[in-house]
Amino acid sequence: RPVDPNELVARSLTQVRRKHYNDRLRSSVRETIELAVTDGLTGLHNRRYLDNHLKVLIERAVARGRPLSVCITDIDRFKSVNDTYGHDCGDVVLTEIAKRLKYFMRGKGYAVRWGGEEFLLVFPEFHIDEAEEVMNEFIHELDAHSVSYKEETEVHITMTFGIVEAGEQFANIDSMVSGADRRLYIGKQNGRNQIVAEEQSEQDL
Ligand code: GH3
Ligand code: MG
Ligand code: MG
Repeated sequence: RPVDPNELVARSLTQVRRKHYNDRLRSSVRETIELAVTDGLTGLHNRRYLDNHLKVLIERAVARGRPLSVCITDIDRFKSVNDTYGHDCGDVVLTEIAKRLKYFMRGKGYAVRWGGEEFLLVFPEFHIDEAEEVMNEFIHELDAHSVSYKEETEVHITMTFGIVEAGEQFANIDSMVSGADRRLYIGKQNGRNQIVAEEQSEQDL
């Protein structure tokens, strides 16, 4: 067919421009979605991410009878870090703790910023005693390495942990979260800086 070179160029340019526009749009949508599930301070995923992805993970593990453990951890006496060294220092501590948790969870599972100074960890294929062992190691690391702030300040941090394993008693994300929360609370009552991985009532303390 006879081809009009001018028209060919014009049409090609239109197509290329359209493609660029679509690519930009797509990557901006992807970035927006990523931002929506990422915590701005620590760079960890946030609660919304958990709702979308990990809910499925938990329900699938329960349905297939695979092990999966969930840990909720909260920094001890964090308010006094803010009160003593300032909010900026508190932010540095949070960011550093998030970084260490993320590092610790490599190859094991996921760390999510659950709220202010609380994190939620998901351990697919981990029985509760295995997750407990990992967090025990974390406690020792935390004890050995204070968080540095502006060179002259060293902040010694401790954390308390509540862990549950998926199963009959904890068959979905809500019951796992409230179970882990309950155990975390018991650990706080019991003096903090510890892991609670079994059911205890407050009277047992
Ligand atoms: P506990 O051992 O019982 O957990 O005591 P706590 O002081 O850690 O707990 P509390 O709930 O009394 O205080 C939590 C504090 O965490 C209060 C809040 O101002 C602070 N916080 C929450 N989010 C942030 C944040 O993003 N940055 C900073 N710097 N502080 C935060
Ligand atoms: Mg706290
Ligand atoms: Mg808290």
